[in-house]
Amino acid sequence: MTRLSPTTALEGLPWVPSTRVAALRRLGLLTLEDLLRHFPRRYEDRRKFDRFPDSPSETAVCLYGVVKKTSYKRFGPRRIFEAILEDDNGGILSNPITLRWYNMPWVQKMILGGHRLVVYGKPRERSKRLVIEHPEFEVIEDEGGVSLHFDRITPVHGAGDGLPVHVLRELIHHALEETDLSAIPRLWPEGRGGTPFLPDVWRAVHFPVDMAECEEARRQLVRDVFFGIQLILCSRHASVKKNGGFARPGNGSVWQRVEESLPFVLTDSQRVVMDEISTDMAAPHRMNRLLQGDVGSGKTMVALRAMIQAHESGWQAALMAPTQILAEQHYLNFRRILDPLGIPVVLRTSSRREDSVKAPDLFESSPSGPSLVVGTHALLFEGAEFEKLGLVVIDEQHKFGVLQRTKLIERADAPDVLVMTATPIPRTITQTLYGDLDVSILKHRPLGRGRIVTAVREVERLPAIVDFLRVELAAGRQAYIVYPLIEESEKLEVKAATAEFEKWKALLAPATVGIVHGRIDVEAKEAVMRDFREGRLSVLVATTVIEVGVDVPNATIMIIEEAGRFGLSQMHQLRGRIGRGPEKSWCILLHDGATGPALEKLEVLEKTLDGFEIAEADLQLRGPGDILGTAQTGLPSLGLGDLLRDADIMSEARRVALEVLAEDPELRNPAHGLMRDYVSKNAACQELSAG
Ligand code: ADP
Ligand code: MG
Repeated sequence: MTRLSPTTALEGLPWVPSTRVAALRRLGLLTLEDLLRHFPRRYEDRRKFDRFPDSPSETAVCLYGVVKKTSYKRFGPRRIFEAILEDDNGGILSNPITLRWYNMPWVQKMILGGHRLVVYGKPRERSKRLVIEHPEFEVIEDEGGVSLHFDRITPVHGAGDGLPVHVLRELIHHALEETDLSAIPRLWPEGRGGTPFLPDVWRAVHFPVDMAECEEARRQLVRDVFFGIQLILCSRHASVKKNGGFARPGNGSVWQRVEESLPFVLTDSQRVVMDEISTDMAAPHRMNRLLQGDVGSGKTMVALRAMIQAHESGWQAALMAPTQILAEQHYLNFRRILDPLGIPVVLRTSSRREDSVKAPDLFESSPSGPSLVVGTHALLFEGAEFEKLGLVVIDEQHKFGVLQRTKLIERADAPDVLVMTATPIPRTITQTLYGDLDVSILKHRPLGRGRIVTAVREVERLPAIVDFLRVELAAGRQAYIVYPLIEESEKLEVKAATAEFEKWKALLAPATVGIVHGRIDVEAKEAVMRDFREGRLSVLVATTVIEVGVDVPNATIMIIEEAGRFGLSQMHQLRGRIGRGPEKSWCILLHDGATGPALEKLEVLEKTLDGFEIAEADLQLRGPGDILGTAQTGLPSLGLGDLLRDADIMSEARRVALEVLAEDPELRNPAHGLMRDYVSKNAACQELSAG
C-alpha cells in the first residue's frame, strides 16, 4: 500500500465524511499532518475506571456506567437536562450520580436511557445530591472486542461542535494508518545524545500502549519543538553578533568621576556585571545582553555605567522605562548625579518631548557632547530621532514583549542593547524568552539594607494595623498602600480611587496622604510622586502603577489590600519598593478570610524574599503565561511542551542547537532548507521568525 504524503488535504479523502470537513477546518485541521499534530488533551485508562464517588471532590473522576433515566426541565430561560448514571456491577446497579447540563439542548439528543457512558468531571454537592455539571462524556457503543474507544488507554482530543470526540479519534487513527509518517520531518539531529528516535512516535502519542511509552513519545515531540525554537534563537543571536556593530570602548574618565561622586561603594556583583557589559560594548560586535537582578539589587547604576561608556565613546545612549513615573525617576536621579559633571540628560516620553520636568534645585545643564536620553518604551515606536544611538537600555523588560525588541536591531547605527529585568524568571524561561541574548546576573543586593518582615493578616485586624502605622508615620517613616486595580471602566476606577483615598485619609489623619493611579493625568501624577519622594506626603495610596522601579528609601511600610487578587511575583515586585533604606521594613498582606491554597499562596511571601523561589512557586500555581504578563506575547507556543516539566529538554535543545550551528554556519541562514522547512511547519517558529 502506498502511503499518503502528510500534506494531503483531508477534504476529499474517502474516509473523511464530507459532513465533518467544516468542523475539522474550525479546529485548523486541513491536512493529514495537521490531524496528527492535534495531540490528545488527556488520556483515560478505560481498562480501570474510578469508583463511583460518595462525596464531592476537587479532582475530576472518570466513571463508566449505565444511564438509568433522563429528564428535561425548563426554569424560565434555563433548560436543564439531567441523566442519572449508575455503576453496573454484573447487572446490579448502584451509586447513582446526577449528570447535568444547562442550556445545551443537543446533549439531550445524544444520551438516552440504557446508554453506556464514560464521563469525566468533578463531583459536587448540589441540594444534597452528587452532581457532575457539564461532564465530558462519550457514549460507548462497542465495549466488546477490539476497540479504539474502550478497554485501553484512550486519548481524549480537543473536539468541537459537529465533531464528537469518538469521531475525531477514529479519523486520527485512520490518518496514522494512511500517512507516510517518515515524511514528517524530525528535527532533532540523531547521534547528539538523548534517547534514540522512537520509530512510531506518532502512534505512541495518540494511542499509547502504556503511559511510559506515551511520555517518551511526548518528550521526543517536545524535543523537536524546543530544538526548533533554540535553532532560531541561537542563529539570531549569532547573526546579530555578526552583522554590524561598533566598538564603544569609552575611556573610563567620566565614569571615574561619577563613581567617586556616588554616596555608596559599588557591590562586588555590580562590578562583575559592569565589567561584563563594558567588555561586550568595547568589542566590535554589537552587544545583545540581558541583565537579571532581583528588585533592589542596583541595576540602575549598572545601566548608568553602560550609558556613560557610550557617551565617552562619542555615542548617544537611551534608557527606556515601562512607565512615565519610572522614566521621570530615572531622569531626576541621573540629573542629580550628572549635572555637576556637566553631562546632558534629556527626558523624552510620549506626552512630552523635551526636558520640561521642573527640577528647580538642579542647575540647567549646558548640552555638550552626545546626550543621555531617558524615556518610556513608547519611544521605540515613535521613530524617535536619535542622531547616533550607541546604546539602548530597556528597563523592566518583563513589561515589554520580546518581539518588540527586534525593532532596535534594524537600526543602521546598530546600537548595543541591554535589557534589564527584575522578574526572577526560571532559567528555562530565560532561555526561551531571551535565548537570543547573553545573560548577566546581579547576584547580591547592596549591604546595609534593613530587614523586610512580611505578615499575612485578615482585614479584621485593620484597626491594630492602623495604630501601628500611625506610630511609624509619627516617627518620620513613609508608607505605600496598594489596592487592586479596577478595570471595568474609567468611571468605576475613579470612584474606587476616590473611596480609597477618603478612607485612608480619614483613618490616618493628620498624616498627609496622596493617591496615584492610572487615570490621573501625567502632571498630577508627577506632582504627587515628587511630593512623596521629597517627604511632603507621608502615605501614598496607589494601584500597581508603583509596581516597578520606584525608589524611595524612607518608605518602610507597604500594605497590600485584597492581596489574594495579586500574583505572587507581582507582590514581590511591589514589596521591592520598601526595604531600600537602613530601617527595618514591614509588608502587610491583607486578605478577607482566605483559607487553604489561597492562604498558602500568600504565606509563600511570608517565608521568603528570594525572587527566584517566588517565581518558581508562582509558575507552579499559575503557569508561565500569567506570570510573564504582557511579555507572554513573546513566548512561543510550545505544543506538548511545558517549560517547567520539560526544563531539561530545553537546556539540552539549546546545547545541541549551539553545537549544530557551530559546525554548520550555513544553518544560520534563515533561507537554509532545513530551517525554512521547519519554520513553515512550526507555529512557534513562525511567531519567532516573524519577530
Ligand atoms: P533595581 O535593581 O530594583 O532597579 P535600583 O537600581 O533602583 O534597584 O537600586 C535600589 C537602591 O539601591 C537605589 O536607591 C540605589 O541608589 C541604591 N544602590 C544602588 N547600588 C548601591 C550600592 N552599591 N550600595 C548601596 N546602595 C545602592
Ligand atoms: Mg529598577
